[in-house]
Amino acid sequence: MNAIVFAALLTVQIAKPQLSIISSSQIESVCNGKSELACTMYRETALQCDCIEHSGKWSVQAHTRTVPYMYMISPRFIEHEALHMADIQQSLQHYVDELAAAEFQSADDCSARANEAMRQFPSKMREFQLDTTLRRDGRIRR
Ligand SMILES: [Zn+2]
Repeated sequence: MNAIVFAALLTVQIAKPQLSIISSSQIESVCNGKSELACTMYRETALQCDCIEHSGKWSVQAHTRTVPYMYMISPRFIEHEALHMADIQQSLQHYVDELAAAEFQSADDCSARANEAMRQFPSKMREFQLDTTLRRDGRIRR
């Protein structure tokens, strides 16, 4: 693996999931009513964007990290929640790659985009969670 690929992989860091098996009477409130079986909550989620200059152009270098907390009534849902987590990882990677792909003529333009991305990140994260819910579960409970 060359150094550039390695650096690109490190832009998304998903911590080891924190797993809790809880009773079916607790699951709905813990999952905010979104599931009666299992859910994953992403905590300590952050996006850090910096601007870097290369050959007179500026681009956003984004790093993101999150800690998944998995709650379920039985360990048999681990595999299913892992599929959701893989989708989230893919969405985050796609997003930081997309941010990195845009080139700016000035440091100010780059900073404006970087700040906008950091501000929008909580809603981006919600969008990624809706995407994986639709993809794996076929429906959304609100
Ligand atoms: Zn699911």
